[in-house]
Amino acid sequence: MGKILRVDLTRQKFSEEDLKEEYAEMFIGGRGLAAKILFDELRAGVDPLGPDNKIIIARGPLTGTAMPFSSRLVISTKSPLTGIYLYTVAGGMFGAALTRSGFDVVVIEGVASKPQCLFIDDGRATLLDAGFIWGATTSDSCRHIKRSLGSDVSVITIGPAGERLAKMASVITDDMRAFGRGGVGAVFGSKKLKAIAARGRHEIIYADKQAFLTNLRRIQEAVLKSPAERRRTLTGTQESPSISSEVGILPTRNWRESVFEGASEISYPRLRERFVVKDLGCPGCMVRCTKLTLVREGPYTGAMSEGPEYETLYALGSCCGIDRPDAIIMADRLCDEYGLDTISTGVTVAWAMECFEKGMLSPEDTDGLQLRFGNHDAMIQAIRKIAFREGKLGSLLADGVREASRRVGKGSERFAMHVKGLELGGYDPRGSRGQGIVYACGPRGGCHHAIGVVARMELDAPTKIEGKGELVHRAGRTRILFDSAPSCTFQSATVMTLELLLNAVTSATGMALTMNDFLEVADRVYAVERAFNVREGITRDADILPERILSEPLPSGPKKGQVVSREELEAMKSDFYRSLGWDEKTGIPTRGRLEALKLGDVANQLLETLGFLPE
Ligand code: SF4
Repeated sequence: MGKILRVDLTRQKFSEEDLKEEYAEMFIGGRGLAAKILFDELRAGVDPLGPDNKIIIARGPLTGTAMPFSSRLVISTKSPLTGIYLYTVAGGMFGAALTRSGFDVVVIEGVASKPQCLFIDDGRATLLDAGFIWGATTSDSCRHIKRSLGSDVSVITIGPAGERLAKMASVITDDMRAFGRGGVGAVFGSKKLKAIAARGRHEIIYADKQAFLTNLRRIQEAVLKSPAERRRTLTGTQESPSISSEVGILPTRNWRESVFEGASEISYPRLRERFVVKDLGCPGCMVRCTKLTLVREGPYTGAMSEGPEYETLYALGSCCGIDRPDAIIMADRLCDEYGLDTISTGVTVAWAMECFEKGMLSPEDTDGLQLRFGNHDAMIQAIRKIAFREGKLGSLLADGVREASRRVGKGSERFAMHVKGLELGGYDPRGSRGQGIVYACGPRGGCHHAIGVVARMELDAPTKIEGKGELVHRAGRTRILFDSAPSCTFQSATVMTLELLLNAVTSATGMALTMNDFLEVADRVYAVERAFNVREGITRDADILPERILSEPLPSGPKKGQVVSREELEAMKSDFYRSLGWDEKTGIPTRGRLEALKLGDVANQLLETLGFLPE
């Protein structure tokens, strides 16, 4: 599309800019492009919930095309939960709608004086009054907007949690996909931006349509022949709790254990037999890995969710000691309706459960809730309180586990399961060392997505540390390229090779990129994301893991007795930085490496902020 839309909420003004062509070649789109724009436009130290933070929404060259797995969009901002770089990616219809509206990137800045909805209608932007939907749940908000603007618009919105600046708040699409992590919903809330609606009729022009379609057919044939993808249609990610528990890496009861006795209850095939009513997919995807679930009996009758997926089954299930799928489906739905990230919410509630059981939180602190592991009713009530910042408990937990543990103290920080403020994904590094680097060094904190689920790549030697830095570097390259093209990352381990992805990008855009160029893009994005965080004070010392992982041996299961020792972590970090060409002592990309990646401007910025830069 070649166009950037800039929206100034303070002045209620819009402007259009051309997308710099060299940025498209250097960063592709999506995650990479948004990272560089965010780096360029934000100075260090900006308050994530203040007027100077920005929201960058970026599509990639494949968004909205006929390519399966590519209905994806990235939102990037400075995270209120972590205080560092954030990108978050989701599928759904909105990416295609934004594409057809005629823009590659939307930059949102300033703060509106009253609730608003940004409407991008076929190349024309307006700001509409959203007072009538302020306070609405996400599905109500989408419904009202569609009723008022037309059923052909696609919408993303925040719920009550984002309005109340809960730092775990998400942004939800009209087809219930979540831009989940890092509190992007709170940034929308701080700007009084309730929603964005888009539609349009702009056509996608392919540089080489024939080559694009030939590549597309190869991908489709590979999917149809792939047993792994057929299995994914059947199970989605709902088989993973059982598998993770069997190999001893399923975080259970706030990471005290890694084997969950209730894992099979919250996994395929139990979920499929009792709760799955339909297989759903992102637009154009024949895999249809999303499992629509419905509770038909018991206290949660009628609860329906597009999932829950593995990370939610872990966070709101095993991590809270809950083996009731009906309760997890209800909790998942509430998180989506209120606009809360399920991972952060589950991990924060699990921490509060442990505090309650240890007497660090009293019944008065929990507003009378018996917040014990396995108490699904208490978990669900806690979610409502978090979304509305209600009572003592809601106000304690709404800003995530780092902030809550700081406030409670009493040693509870030792078992607050986050890195840099972001609650951890569902794979225990004590049973999968590479996952430890993913969490410790990941660009957005303790996240499993940004670099990838290395646990699945190191099953043959999960507790060895040799070569893990390089393995993680390679995994992260793939993730960055898939998030930048963008394309669903599930197929990166099966049919969608980097060659096919590169072919799709070059035939769509006409950019003459070799595989080496493509891999260099990934390393460039790694460096820009790190540079953003370095500017915010993140260096080697901040790349750590929670104390529980470093010093509490797993009590049972196949990985019994394991910890990630400090020595192991430090050795793996050195290996990782070395592989990326960063300075081992500080974890900062060196001037030489930045210049080799054509990031001289980033090097100069870092030098200016830090007063030094490793050579
Ligand atoms: S595999 Fe699943 S998540 Fe990926 S594009 Fe298809 S339906 Fe969407």
